Amino acid sequence: MDPRLAAPFRQQLLAQQSALLAQLAEQRGGVIGRAEAAADHFGQPEDPRAQLATERELEFALDERETAHLAAVVAALTRIEAGTYGECTDCGTHITAARLHATPEAARCVHCQEKAEQHRRAA
Ligand SMILES: [Zn+2]
Repeated sequence: MDPRLAAPFRQQLLAQQSALLAQLAEQRGGVIGRAEAAADHFGQPEDPRAQLATERELEFALDERETAHLAAVVAALTRIEAGTYGECTDCGTHITAARLHATPEAARCVHCQEKAEQHRRAA
């Protein structure tokens, strides 16, 4: 896609990117806050490494959706830079403008997205 045509999508993606980064930063702060509160309440654990692992797991579970979304947004911005934005990453067909307006980070056409989701459900 011509970079000038991709400009409005780029704006949308950049806005999503900063919103997701802010959300992730807020969640991380929240998780650390709650973990510290729990440590105060229960006292120090015998093995500090065990507590660290639990905090990481908690953080990861909360962040997973946002992190995946952020990765998709960053990948779409990279495709804009490369001039391949709006082309399906699987079959190379042009993704419809309507789809890109609804989901600017879409990497696949509707057809390939459905196939990918069916594959994921089957796995
Ligand atoms: Zn496709």
